[in-house]
Amino acid sequence: GKMNIQEMDQRYIANTYARFPVTLVSGKGSILTDEAGKEYIDLAGGIAVNTFGIADEQWQKAVTDQLSRLQHTSNLYYTEPCVKLAELLCERTGMKNVFFSNSGAEANECAIKAARKYAADQKGKDCFTIITLNGSFHGRTITTLAATGQDSFHHDFTPLTPGFVYVEANDSADLIQKITKNNVAAILFEVVQGEGGVNRLTEKFVKQMQEIALEQDILLIADEVQIGNGRSGKLYGYMNYDIQPDIVTTAKGLGGGLPIGATLFGEKTADVLTPGLHGSTFGGNPVCCAGALNILSRIDEKLLKEVREKSEYIRSQLEGASGIKSITGLGLMLGLETVKDASAIISDCLEKGVLILKAKEKIRLLPPLNITMEELDKAIMTIKEVCAQ
Ligand SMILES: *Cc1c(COP(=O)(O)O)cnc(C)c1O
Repeated sequence: GKMNIQEMDQRYIANTYARFPVTLVSGKGSILTDEAGKEYIDLAGGIAVNTFGIADEQWQKAVTDQLSRLQHTSNLYYTEPCVKLAELLCERTGMKNVFFSNSGAEANECAIKAARKYAADQKGKDCFTIITLNGSFHGRTITTLAATGQDSFHHDFTPLTPGFVYVEANDSADLIQKITKNNVAAILFEVVQGEGGVNRLTEKFVKQMQEIALEQDILLIADEVQIGNGRSGKLYGYMNYDIQPDIVTTAKGLGGGLPIGATLFGEKTADVLTPGLHGSTFGGNPVCCAGALNILSRIDEKLLKEVREKSEYIRSQLEGASGIKSITGLGLMLGLETVKDASAIISDCLEKGVLILKAKEKIRLLPPLNITMEELDKAIMTIKEVCAQ
C-alpha cells in the first residue's frame, strides 16, 4: 500500500533524527498545525530560528519580493541585500565587516580560520590553540565538533581537527592554567550555553576572559548562533556583559527561517581574510539576506523590552511551581530543571498541544520573540500541569 509521510521519511531519509510522531503542514505566528488539523503552541521556534514565528507577513513580503527579482548570483557579482544586511549588522554592533555563510557551523568555521590566520600573522605558526568551554556546542562539522566541549559528540569521528583545549565554564583558575600551558590564539564561547543545558556564564568569568584576551592579544569569539538576534533581551547575548568580542558568529534566528550564517569581524580581525582565503557558493544569498534584513531591522528596543518582560513573566509563573526545581537562561532562552523526566514532560506537552525542547536533562524554551501573552499563558498552564507532581 501507499506509505504515509512518516513511513516514507523512515525509508528515504538518513537515520540521523529521532523525530516526534508529528507531521507539520502549516502555521501562523506561534501556532503550528499538523496534518490532522491539530494545533500546537510553539515554544521551540524551529530551535530558535523562527524569530517572528510562522508565515510572518512582513518577512514573507521581503523574501518573496526579492525571490521574484533575483534568487542567486554567486559571489562573483555585487547585490544589494547582503550589503544592506552587513551594514545594519555593523551599525548595530560596532563590528567592522561581515562574512556570510549558510549555517552556524559554517559561521564558526570561518571564525576559527580567521583566528588561526590572525594568530599565525601576529605570533607565529605555532600559536593556534583555541580554547572552548566544557558543555559548549559549536556545530557538526569535524572542526566545529572538535570545538564542541562535549565528549559525547566526539567518539565515532576521531581523529578530529587538532588545536582545541577545553576549559571548565566559569572556572577562572582552569582558564588561567590552560592559557599559561598553551599557545592560545582565541577563546570561543557562548554566553549562554544552549545545547549544553541553558547555562549562563558568570559576569566574573566573562570579564576575566576579556581581561586576559586584551592583555595577551588573544581573540574573543562570541558564538551567538542560538542566543543572538534578540533572544537574550539584547540584540546579541554578549551585550548583556560589558565586553567587546573580536569576532561574533551568528545564524539560527537571523534569517527568520531561511538558512544564513554570519561571521562579524571587529577592529583587530577585519582585515585578516583576503581574496581567495575563504568563500561560500550560497553565502550572502539575496533571498536569505532580504529576509534577514527584515528580521534584524525589527529587533528594536521595543521588541527587546518585550522579550525581557516575557522572560520575567515566564520566570514569575514557573519559579517555585510544583515539579519545577530551577529556571536558568536569559531572555527567551530558558531552561527548566524538572522533577519528572524531561523527555516524558516533552511528550506529555506535545500530546496537550505545546511544543518544547530538551537540553541535556532540562526542558528548553525558545519561543518566537513575538509570541502573544495569550499563547504564552496557555502554554505556561500546560507546562505547569504536566510538570506538577
Ligand atoms: C545550533 C548551534 C550551532 C550550529 O548551527 P548549525 O546551523 O546547526 O550549523 C553552533 N553554535 C551554537 C551555539 C548553536 O546553538
